Amino acid sequence: METVLLDEKTLKKDERLYIKGIRLMSSVKLDYSTEKHLSFLVKGDEDIHNVMYFDEKKYDKKWQCDCKWYTLQDKLCSHIIAVNLALRNGRIKIPNNKETDKKGD
Ligand SMILES: [Zn+2]
Repeated sequence: METVLLDEKTLKKDERLYIKGIRLMSSVKLDYSTEKHLSFLVKGDEDIHNVMYFDEKKYDKKWQCDCKWYTLQDKLCSHIIAVNLALRNGRIKIPNNKETDKKGD
């Protein structure tokens, strides 16, 4: 699976969030990965949030988070920014699942 990261402009749209994302970058962990879905855990100030990536969704909907900010406002949150930064910097590596499952219909 190819992970499409959000572009710089999108990540930096809200500077305060971006700065928070940089701070959270070190607490990003890969939870699990499947062929079309990635799950990350981001430890925030108090809670751990679950950031998910869906390969089959449209660009701006690929990334989702379970935090209040994202759920209520449907806007990019610092957790999603943190995951994107961690992936871009190579801090987190996605295991390359090359076991092509040849499932029939
Ligand atoms: Zn979030």
